[in-house]
Amino acid sequence: MKEKREVFPGDEVAVEEEYLASDGTFASDGKIYASQIGVLELDEEEMIARVISPNPPNILRERDVVFAIIADTRSTMATADVVAVDGKLRDLGGETYATIHVSKISPGYTDDVSKELRKGDYIRAEVIGTKPSLQLTTKAEHYGVVRALCFKCKSEMARKGKTQLYCGKCERSVPRKLADDYGNVVF
Ligand SMILES: [Zn+2]
Repeated sequence: MKEKREVFPGDEVAVEEEYLASDGTFASDGKIYASQIGVLELDEEEMIARVISPNPPNILRERDVVFAIIADTRSTMATADVVAVDGKLRDLGGETYATIHVSKISPGYTDDVSKELRKGDYIRAEVIGTKPSLQLTTKAEHYGVVRALCFKCKSEMARKGKTQLYCGKCERSVPRKLADDYGNVVF
């Protein structure tokens, strides 16, 4: 026997004496609250309170635009950790480890990942695959690095033309696949 009704984040849905908080709920001071919009399920067999979202907010899909931090670069790909979905502040509970193949980084031909992306770069990218793992592309103009720190001195680098960044302290230019709004993205 299950009770079902629509709830909103912060709605009190049960008490801890009777139910265990589970997916989409959290416990505080003996009470259980919804942490997301969805349908409340009070499972009276297992004594679990959960809120089921019609569209799970934490699962990335193809064509989602995301922000990610480059974790590493190798000869044929970069790896990145997805930290946010563009335009939607959503918790990412699903898979956030992603790869960007060398052929999906820039519109032109690239044979050296490290000339386009570097560890620690913030990028905007589009999800092009989710199975068996997350795959991203930064090919389009609006995709690519949006914020980067100098590898040597860690100060923020400035855009220099379409494909270069410049560190004023080190007086050093480095190549990158830049997003068209590099430097204007607020985190
Ligand atoms: Zn520097």
